[in-house]
Amino acid sequence: MSIIHVVSVSGGKDSAATLLLAIERFGAENVRGIFCDTGNEHEEVYKYLEYLELATGVVIATLRADFTGEIARKRMFIARDQRTRRGADGRKVRWTNKAKRRALAVLHPSGNPFLDLCLWKGRFPSRKAQFCTEELKRNMAVEYQLGLMEQGYTVVSWQGVRRDESQNRRNAKKFERVGGGLYIFRPLVEWSAMDVFAYCASKGVQPNPLYKQGMGRVGCMPCINANKAELKQIALRFPEHPERISQWEWKVLNASKRGGATFIPAENGGKFVQNSLAHAKENDIYAVIEWAQTSRGGKQFSLLTALDDGTACASAYGLCE
Ligand code: SF4
Repeated sequence: MSIIHVVSVSGGKDSAATLLLAIERFGAENVRGIFCDTGNEHEEVYKYLEYLELATGVVIATLRADFTGEIARKRMFIARDQRTRRGADGRKVRWTNKAKRRALAVLHPSGNPFLDLCLWKGRFPSRKAQFCTEELKRNMAVEYQLGLMEQGYTVVSWQGVRRDESQNRRNAKKFERVGGGLYIFRPLVEWSAMDVFAYCASKGVQPNPLYKQGMGRVGCMPCINANKAELKQIALRFPEHPERISQWEWKVLNASKRGGATFIPAENGGKFVQNSLAHAKENDIYAVIEWAQTSRGGKQFSLLTALDDGTACASAYGLCE
C-alpha cells in the first residue's frame, strides 16, 4: 500500500522545517503540503507559501472551510425562534425581534472562512473555546487525509510541534498511530526555535519575512492569542488588519444574540460593562491596541495580561504556530 506524507504548512518556521524534513527523508514525490487558509492571514503568508512551493517543488494545497450551510440554518433558526423560557440568570433566552433584525441583516456568507465561522457562532473564538483551530484547520486537514485514505493510501500526518512552545505541547508525542491507516509524526518535538531556523538555513530556505517585522509567530493576523508586543507591532506596521478586525467585530456583534462580541474575548478579563454593546465598545480591537501601547503603569485592564508570554497559542494540534 502506498504511503503519503502530508505536512500541514502554516507559513511559519516550524511547519517549513517539517516540510523540508519530510522531503529529505521521503522525497518530494511522496510528500504533500496542505495549508488551511483561515481568511485571517497576512498577505505575506500567501507569498511565502508560493516561495516554499518553488523552493521545494512540493505543491501546497489550500483548504478553505465553507460555512454557507451553517449560516443558512442559523438564519432559519433565528427567524423561527419563539422560545420564551428564561436562563439560569433569569434573562430571556429567546431572540428579541430587535436582535433578530440585527442578526438577519448581517447573517450572509462573506466567503471568508474566519468571519463566516464567527457569524455562524455569533462570537469570536477564545482561548477556552478555540473553535477556530478546530473548524478552520483541524477539520479541514482531517477531511483531506480521510480523502486520501479512502483512495487506499496510508497517511502520515506530519506536524511541526515543539514541546518548548507552550504548556499544551509540553507532552506532545513524537509518533502516534491513530488507526485506519492514519499516523501522526511530530519530528520537531525536541527541537528549539533556534534549531528550526538553523535547519531551514542549512537547506537554503528563508524564514517568513514576518519574523523580521516583530511577529513572534506566524498565523492569523492577528491571532486571538496574540501577545501585547505582537499587537503593538501589528498596529504599527499593518494597521489595515486591525481595521478589518474592527469591521468584523461590528458584524459579529450584530449576529450575536446579546449584541456583544469582541475579537479579543472579554472572558480574558476585559473591562466589564453591563450593557453588551457598551461592553463590546470598551473592549474592541482598538481599545485592546491602545492598552497594548501602554506600559504596565498605563491604562490598566487585565485583558491579555495572561497572554503576554509569547508562547500563548493553546492549540495542541500543531496547526497554529
Ligand atoms: S492562529 Fe490563532 S486565531 Fe488563527 S486559528 Fe489558530 S488559534 Fe485561532
